[in-house]
Amino acid sequence: MELSSKILENAVGELSSLPGVGKRSALRYALHLLRQPDSAFASFVGALTRLKSEIHFCKECHNVSDTPLCPICANPRRDHGILCVVENIQEVMAIENTQQYSGLYHVLGGVISPIDGIGIHDLTIASLLERVQERQPREVILALPTTMEGDTTNFYINRQLRQFPEVAVTTIARGVAIGDNLEFADEVTLGRSLLNRVPYETVR
Ligand code: ZN
Repeated sequence: MELSSKILENAVGELSSLPGVGKRSALRYALHLLRQPDSAFASFVGALTRLKSEIHFCKECHNVSDTPLCPICANPRRDHGILCVVENIQEVMAIENTQQYSGLYHVLGGVISPIDGIGIHDLTIASLLERVQERQPREVILALPTTMEGDTTNFYINRQLRQFPEVAVTTIARGVAIGDNLEFADEVTLGRSLLNRVPYETVR
């Protein structure tokens, strides 16, 4: 896209790097921002700057948080005996929206995917095992996507968790279609699949 301003072109380039934003939309956003009063623009930019500089990842579950310990982990009314292992932060939000789950989470930050160069050390698996060892939950729910990568990751984590025989390893049940991303499952289906979870070893 050839524009009369290199500065505008640069801004359009940055905006179009966002997922789902094409050059045309990026130009519309850039021109919209350009028309904003200074105060509105500063507030927009400030929110983005704080996003990177001030946000924390919870030291326990790796969810986003404004504090070192996220509000879910810090909540004494949640069931600290259950950890639900999810791929990303979006899944925490999706499960929270079902209002069917009162345990804690563990955000892996992805799934094992050799094609994408994601191995076990790129994920928070070591931190999960440490957490299980220290906190001794009674159950770990594997709620990863029902894809080949999700299955591989479930398999690996389950094998690692065998060193803690007192921990029940379960997985979410029927309702989430094969290949579905939890983020896009409807709340009722996702809520039901959590309630009807089954021992992991029985479904492999
Ligand atoms: Zn947390």
